[in-house]
Amino acid sequence: MRLTRVGLAVLAVVGLLMVGASIQAQGTATPKELGGAYTFKQGGWTYVHLEGTPHEIGFQHGYLLKDEIEDNLQVYRVEAEHMYHSNWAFFREAGKTVLWPKVEPEYRAELQGIVDGMRARGAGSNGAEGSVDLWDIMALNGEEEIADYYLPMVNAKEHKVNPPQATAPGRCSALIATGSATKDGKIVIAHSNWSPYAEGERWTVAYDIVPEHGQRIMMDGTPGVITSQDDFGINASGLMITETTLPQTVGFDVKGIPEFVRSRKAMQYATSIAEYAAIMRKGNNGGYANSWLIGDRKTGEIGYLEMGFKHTPLTVKKDGYFVSANFPSDPLVMRDDTPGFDPKDMSSTMNARHVTAEAFVKKHYGKLDTALAEAYLSDHWDSFEKKVDADKRSLCGHEENSPEGEKAWGNPPYSPGGSVTGKVADADMAAKMSFIARAGHPCGEDFLAASFLAKHPEFGWEKPILHDMKAGPWTAFHAGEAAPKDDLVVAKR
Ligand SMILES: [Zn+2]
Repeated sequence: MRLTRVGLAVLAVVGLLMVGASIQAQGTATPKELGGAYTFKQGGWTYVHLEGTPHEIGFQHGYLLKDEIEDNLQVYRVEAEHMYHSNWAFFREAGKTVLWPKVEPEYRAELQGIVDGMRARGAGSNGAEGSVDLWDIMALNGEEEIADYYLPMVNAKEHKVNPPQATAPGRCSALIATGSATKDGKIVIAHSNWSPYAEGERWTVAYDIVPEHGQRIMMDGTPGVITSQDDFGINASGLMITETTLPQTVGFDVKGIPEFVRSRKAMQYATSIAEYAAIMRKGNNGGYANSWLIGDRKTGEIGYLEMGFKHTPLTVKKDGYFVSANFPSDPLVMRDDTPGFDPKDMSSTMNARHVTAEAFVKKHYGKLDTALAEAYLSDHWDSFEKKVDADKRSLCGHEENSPEGEKAWGNPPYSPGGSVTGKVADADMAAKMSFIARAGHPCGEDFLAASFLAKHPEFGWEKPILHDMKAGPWTAFHAGEAAPKDDLVVAKR
């Protein structure tokens, strides 16, 4: 069915009227808070438009994505026990006592808004199963930094054995290029999220956020979290932002500002690479330490910010590229912040993907565009085995095919994880607040849970949360998009 803009507007109004009716029926909120918010599904993604005050943005988020947030919470509750040998109560407590005191009022209001929106839609509030409160949402937002940075510090203090997976992991493959490296001389950016599939198959929200203050944001994300967290986004001032995780980072400052607050704030308020770095550095708590790739389409400059705990070097250039695949580059970061990282182990996914990434960019230097960026994310070369093999070492990761696991991250053999989405954009798309995204593996392969679990019963604990992760088409999204349009779907390659 092809709908006109007017037809879509009518549908949107009808939808909002229906939403308003259900709110009034429950008598717990006013339709006013929903403002002009809306959501729709396309290409395996859930598009969400949010606008207004911090509380309104949160309320709309919680209201429109209530079911998705409850489902997402369940994933992390299960992982808290099985991956981190902890429990959700620990995460809630850390969210409340460690992170919340450093969350500034704007984001406190947005987080509370998520809870209020979920409750207005029928979520329980009495602490029983199925209910949600602020500390659930705080734990969800802070999950990365609690699990892999705060928990290991607590375990060390209490002389407890730290579970292998409570370690700063490697996540994601990325690229940013400009000047003589690209086809049109302007910036091209690419990112694949690399996560456990149970997390990643849900990390498929395209957020269009129009905040009361700061820049409009178009970013990907996961339900219930106020920052992109796998970190791919564009803001209205012209910044193009992504990252990959620094592996095996140590150090966490309980007095610092949570990473999820700094990264959201940077995407919302920074108008230059320098401002972006300044916001990330201020109050650095060491949590979820990343190598940031930042482009400024206004100047054509690209930046590489290695956000370690002790060292945070920034390199900016007008010509060339940066690739990133969970390897530190700066010698001081390597020495002091990622002491477990071994740059000589070419069998590790971090170094193997580094080799492939460099080779890909050198081969296509001067021709890089969004089509080649998609090819980069979809690449299956294993530089250690020296053959095509979709596994833990390919830029498009398929860890479930690797019999040795990635020991540095504590991942056992055949872990169901790897690349879970791909996103690309060029400077002209960024000017229109647009990017092209694929849900699932960037290469287009499907992951099927039942056949995997039958072959690998050791991951049976994931059965309640691990679903099929089917790849969608490469699909363009832009800010202010009202609903699906035929011409937005880019042909499946
Ligand atoms: Zn693949």
